[in-house]
Amino acid sequence: MEEEKQRRLRALPAVHEVLLRLEGEAEFSPFLANKRDLPRLTNCVRQVLQKARENVNRNISNSFEDYEFALWPWLKSELIQALILPETSLRRVINATGVVLHTNCGRALLAPEAAHFVAVQAERYSNLELNIETGERGSRYVHVEQLLCELTGAEAAMVVNNNAAAVLLMMNTFALGKDVVVSRGELVEVGGSFRIPEVLKAGGAKLIEVGSTNKTWYKDYEAAISSETALLLKVHTSNYRVEGFTHAVSGAELVELGEKYGIPVMEDLGSGSFFDGTSLGFPLEPTIQQTVKAGLALVSFSGDKLLGGPQAGIIVGKRNFIERLRANQLTRALRIDKLTLAALEGTLRMYQNGDGESIPVWRMLSYSLDRLKIAAEELKSALGSNTAVSAEIKEDVSQVGGGAWPTVNLPTWVCALRPKQGSVVELEKFLRLGPVAILTRIQKDRILIDGRTLLDGDIAEIVQRLKEWK
Ligand SMILES: *Cc1c(COP(=O)(O)O)cnc(C)c1O
Repeated sequence: MEEEKQRRLRALPAVHEVLLRLEGEAEFSPFLANKRDLPRLTNCVRQVLQKARENVNRNISNSFEDYEFALWPWLKSELIQALILPETSLRRVINATGVVLHTNCGRALLAPEAAHFVAVQAERYSNLELNIETGERGSRYVHVEQLLCELTGAEAAMVVNNNAAAVLLMMNTFALGKDVVVSRGELVEVGGSFRIPEVLKAGGAKLIEVGSTNKTWYKDYEAAISSETALLLKVHTSNYRVEGFTHAVSGAELVELGEKYGIPVMEDLGSGSFFDGTSLGFPLEPTIQQTVKAGLALVSFSGDKLLGGPQAGIIVGKRNFIERLRANQLTRALRIDKLTLAALEGTLRMYQNGDGESIPVWRMLSYSLDRLKIAAEELKSALGSNTAVSAEIKEDVSQVGGGAWPTVNLPTWVCALRPKQGSVVELEKFLRLGPVAILTRIQKDRILIDGRTLLDGDIAEIVQRLKEWK
């Protein structure tokens, strides 16, 4: 083992050798062309080689041949990260909070398959708005419409910038200057001061509230219907629960009421999901497919909540309604860009191929307790006993986040850290302000690191940062 480590350390190039070899690598030419950058580049090379030595000392899991083969690509990618990323405004963050859909950290992570597809589409021309068969202009929406119809059971689909835009567009298209009936129990504030009543107003619709916070009945909706009524709207209360003495009218019942008066019914499903959550032991949530089945004219949901894709507002429903949305001039202003479209197609194809459960959001939500315990233990043992923080592992709970399953506490294991000197507030800040921001949770006199939202290599970086504490 020791001999193998020495062999691997000897295989690492010297700083000047790395610099020389970089001259042949196009992506490094900007750093080599400018003499002023050279000290910084040299410094980064030193840091990356130091990291490589630490990795060798920490574990040897592959063959020497594999190690040697992967070394140069690894050095290059680490160097690019060290050189470019800290300079940018958008930076990588290590999310150790256990909140899977962390709004401040970009909500859903894309699956590698989807991310790769985005990179390809970004660097190449595509048939974004080209009908290859005819050579004529095509529509950007066709790339996901068929997929969405197959997955949701809807007749037609379209996508816009986000779900707020989807609701706005539905209001503006079907209820401009007219009444929209909504239950008082469903006047949701989503966060970032985005409120359903305000979006309705922005879309030019007049909100007619019915029922009470905890109970709304069929007859309440019926009593509110007048010649001015354009729509009955259901809003899924994704981020809170009204429990106890409650009653809500289902989508199917509203559809029945709507048919009686010739008024379309639409639903903002919020964090729509293809899975109902019961396989993970969560309280049952209606899936997108079930909601569509109720016969609503249109159903909208977010792309980057439980769907696990990019930020997008997805609208599915009856063909004639979707066509009217497309004809609205606002659609152009709210339209989805090609990279998002690529990410969405990549994500939807995973569902279609039966790989939906390997999408990061679902993978993280379904980690076994054993696995989470191993991650917590790994961190604790990597810290050893000689650091300035004491570590212990304990059971705790993580959150889904993104306004989904607000009442679910996911059992997890955390590594709880206590600074031997200084306060937890200082330690939290120290972790957040390191070379890579590490986001943690403070619980009384401890800092919690939840393995649920950690990705490959994150633990090593957390350990490295913690070793620099005091
Ligand atoms: C999250 C949410 C929205 C907003 O969706 P975005 O994609 O963030 O614009 C709207 N309605 C409900 C019910 C939500 O949960």
